[in-house]
Amino acid sequence: MQYRRLPHGEKKERFSTLGLGLGGIQQAPAEEIESAVRLAVDNGINFFDLCAGGAGVYEPFGKAIRGRREQVFFQLHFGAVYNEAGEYGWSRDPEEIRRTFQWEMEMLGTEYADFGFLHCVDEMQDLEELMDSGVLAYLQALKGQGRIRHIGFSSHTPAVAQRALDTGLMDMMMFSLNPAYDLEQGDELGIGTVSERAQLLQRCQALGVGVSVMKPFHGGKLLDASASPFGVAMTPFQCLQYAMDRPGVLSVVPGVRGMQDLRDLLGFLQADPEEKDYSLIARFTPKEVTGSCVYCNHCQPCPAGIDIGLVNKYYDLACAGDQMAADHYRKLSVKANACIGCGHCDKRCPFHVTQKDRMQTIRQYFEGK
Ligand code: SF4
Ligand code: SF4
Repeated sequence: MQYRRLPHGEKKERFSTLGLGLGGIQQAPAEEIESAVRLAVDNGINFFDLCAGGAGVYEPFGKAIRGRREQVFFQLHFGAVYNEAGEYGWSRDPEEIRRTFQWEMEMLGTEYADFGFLHCVDEMQDLEELMDSGVLAYLQALKGQGRIRHIGFSSHTPAVAQRALDTGLMDMMMFSLNPAYDLEQGDELGIGTVSERAQLLQRCQALGVGVSVMKPFHGGKLLDASASPFGVAMTPFQCLQYAMDRPGVLSVVPGVRGMQDLRDLLGFLQADPEEKDYSLIARFTPKEVTGSCVYCNHCQPCPAGIDIGLVNKYYDLACAGDQMAADHYRKLSVKANACIGCGHCDKRCPFHVTQKDRMQTIRQYFEGK
């Protein structure tokens, strides 16, 4: 398992790149939910999203993490509420949101949540309502008391997410992310242009705001050729790797329906690089976007030992003003100046990136800094 640090967090706040969402498991018996969470933690998953799971997931989740609370991190959504039947719903009523948080803490048997999220900040009005009604102030107060460790938000809309980032209060953003949405071929939740979506992630990385990913499989559509907007099925592992390679992403939180789904998902940890190679999306990439590196590393191996995807990611982020990415680049043991111009990457790149030339551009950029 790979772990990534929350830039605004403490050293110990390192999250598994493969996380778990509990949104799909609510139909399973409580014992199975508890066993699934234990199995996930035993296999190194330490990051969870509890949104939309229904009221029934809290108690078994709490039982599963008892005794190892400090090893586990989870997101709670302020605005996700549950009716008497335990069904997930949605509220902007500050009193209901407060009551839900108290109830969640009791069910989970813990004193704190790692993340308190403004829930579903999709319209400007959502953000204004959550601020005007005092929900954001409530999160700030909880953070001051140590009852939540960080503030974040979930969104599907780049323009609104940018406004949430403008507050300067965010440590984490949950965002819907998959190749269909990023290539403007998704559904109504795939909002924003290719560049708006890319700029949002780059800004998160530059600000040190972590990203957790929802909808990595486009609600399962990408896994089914007849439902996929591309007309070709991707594998879950390809979708997961795609999301993990986007700037700022710390953890991807796919849902599972039960133990069998979880076991299948854990196969990702043993999968070889070929199984995770998502370069087939090059076939569906619009002409205006080809020529841009998507950091997929399909062009490997580089005889000079350059991690081509990573070098390109750091370069793009540095150009967008991310000083930390520039520092990361400088710490690489093999940089763009190691390129011997063999052209192997140019031949291998399905996105038609002229990488050999780009390595020279990257070298000159950092040497000139
Ligand atoms: S140059 Fe092409 S193949 Fe290599 S990482 Fe970039 S997009 Fe992927
Ligand atoms: S051209 Fe440079 S970056 Fe590309 S494979 Fe050859 S040495 Fe590596």
